[in-house]
Amino acid sequence: MTLTVAAAAPAFSRLPSSSPLSAEERDAILAEPGFGRHFTDHMVAIDWTEDAGWHDARVQPYGPLQMDPASAVLHYAQEIFEGLKAYRHADGSVWTFRPDMNARRFQRSARRLALPELPVEDFLASLSEIVAADAAWIPTGGEHSLYLRPFMIANETFLGVRPACRAAYFVIASPAGPYFSGGVTPVSIWLSTEFSRAGRGGTGAAKCGGNYAASLLPQEEAAANGCSQVLFLDAESGRHVDELGGMNVFFVMGDRLVTPATSGSILEGVTRDSVIQLARDRGLVVQERDFTLDEWRDGVESGRITEVFACGTAAVITPIAQVKGPDFAFGEADAPAGEVTMSLRQELTDIQYGRAEDRHGWLYRLDS
Ligand SMILES: *Cc1c(COP(=O)(O)O)cnc(C)c1O
Repeated sequence: MTLTVAAAAPAFSRLPSSSPLSAEERDAILAEPGFGRHFTDHMVAIDWTEDAGWHDARVQPYGPLQMDPASAVLHYAQEIFEGLKAYRHADGSVWTFRPDMNARRFQRSARRLALPELPVEDFLASLSEIVAADAAWIPTGGEHSLYLRPFMIANETFLGVRPACRAAYFVIASPAGPYFSGGVTPVSIWLSTEFSRAGRGGTGAAKCGGNYAASLLPQEEAAANGCSQVLFLDAESGRHVDELGGMNVFFVMGDRLVTPATSGSILEGVTRDSVIQLARDRGLVVQERDFTLDEWRDGVESGRITEVFACGTAAVITPIAQVKGPDFAFGEADAPAGEVTMSLRQELTDIQYGRAEDRHGWLYRLDS
């Protein structure tokens, strides 16, 4: 990865927490961290105003934000976020995976939500800062990581509808255990026929909280039907597969891998992009194109579709056994995970954890 650092990264002031958790308390959490339930002792914050630009970069104790009740984000959802992981390798060093892609996507999301763009080098520096402050929180061992959550909110006190002239950027961190604690298990997913995730010209390609808020009701419907995730079709024709609420989707057809094209209504996942590269490296033909629900049903019936999986940073790669709707189901709920799915998953996690050669230069060191 080549990064041209245009300006000196901001100097972060550092205010250590006066009440960090004890080693015993921290170890108890790290033994069974779950996902997104526990947070480290520190956070990063950088302020932005229209007049002063980005300023006051700092590491401070983790804690509640003081916000005016009229802050724009609380009313008009002017908010974006990112998600990536810090991995501790066997030699103790700490790395993250393709953070330049997250940094640039964060800029694209900011543009779409009329928020200020954070320079790539400041985004990267903020990750190193949180890792330096909370190094003791980075777990070791198979598929344990420290999940990093950068986010930005509009915090101008104003109820008028226009882009806020005050914003704030934060990074919080949360230890994460293996997503599948009992081994990778294929899931059933629910096809939402009533609701859409994104429309033409909407915010589908931006990583913003509003998209997630809109996916919660369909997600509830999925759960009520025994499914762990919801799958959305394109809003316009209702025929093409878009993606899940928070993961991209792939179809394995022999030596071909098909995934919906990034047409503006799906989120361009870093995992998606990496899977495409790894698949091409091993000689699979990858097609980014429209994929209809009809092609899915026919492919399962004819046996042409051999595997289906979803991917994203949190769960890496999740095999999909079955897709269900109000009056149909393709695939068997108890189908085992596919070979291509599992070997891509293994290869990707081996690179992330430093167990396989990083031939594309995807790893970025955070602790030096
Ligand atoms: C974050 C996200 C993904 C996955 O992106 P990764 O960069 O692979 O983690 C997919 N879809 C949606 C809607 C997302 O928000």
